[in-house]
Amino acid sequence: MILFRKAEDIRQYLDKQENLGKQLSFVPTMGALHPGHLSLLSEAKKGGGISVCSIFVNPTQFNDAKDFEKYPVTLDEDIKMLEEAGCDVLFIPSVTEIYPQGVSDPSRYELGAIESVLEGKYRPGHFQGVAMVVHRLLEIVMPHHLYMGQKDYQQCMVVAELIRITGLDKRVQLKVVPTMREKDGLAMSSRNMRLKKEERKLAVGIYETLQFINKNIAKEPFSALKADAAHRLTSKGFRVDYVEIADATTLETVIEWDGKQGLVALIAAYLNEVRLIDNLQVVQ
Ligand code: AMP
Repeated sequence: MILFRKAEDIRQYLDKQENLGKQLSFVPTMGALHPGHLSLLSEAKKGGGISVCSIFVNPTQFNDAKDFEKYPVTLDEDIKMLEEAGCDVLFIPSVTEIYPQGVSDPSRYELGAIESVLEGKYRPGHFQGVAMVVHRLLEIVMPHHLYMGQKDYQQCMVVAELIRITGLDKRVQLKVVPTMREKDGLAMSSRNMRLKKEERKLAVGIYETLQFINKNIAKEPFSALKADAAHRLTSKGFRVDYVEIADATTLETVIEWDGKQGLVALIAAYLNEVRLIDNLQVVQ
């Protein structure tokens, strides 16, 4: 595995690889890696080209300064994990490498309605930050394939839109990888490291609630089902940001369901200080 810290150096190396006819597959991360991240790398490696991972805790996507400060950093372990998993190239840029003009760039991406619902509503500015960092990373790495996790369902949709509006769709193909879960069903997440033992036991309540929604999708009006689901979470000690049942392709709230429209159930909730998100595509 070759480690780069400078945009110019990684670009030079990748140019050479491309001239040798290699396809480039890219997995951007914020580090604190777990098997969910490695499942993206494993998909990226299936193409047989050069696999590139990045680790960068992006300050512009944190709307909550405390969340940024407390974001877990496990760089030595991450490097070891990626090396063992057969990653070809690792990019660990500094903030100035990603944001040479500083982090307060006033430019905005026109991401449409997807930006301001759900995560966008509860984390104002979050997706502009995601768009900034992903755009910059894509310009540096210029991958043919970009791998992202369904765990961040809305993020995948935002990035798909970003790729479209920037014209990068001529080059980059987004591939969405299913969510990897712990044995009990909890979606793997770097933030799980911050859960105390008792909280970790409770955390599976999010996945159980998504399954509850899936199971009862045709039995109750959605408003009642969402209220029941939220109540289940609060009774376990969660503080709920949202429980939503949405169209799987637009993320618009669905109130009346024809039984055919593709649906996704999404939850964001806190256990004390730690905010967790998860989602499940509804299957009947
Ligand atoms: P993060 O480091 O949290 O920004 O995540 C980096 C990438 O890994 C994103 O595309 C995430 O959606 C993806 N990811 C995070 N957790 C999981 C998981 N449990 N299963 C699959 N992909 C994941």
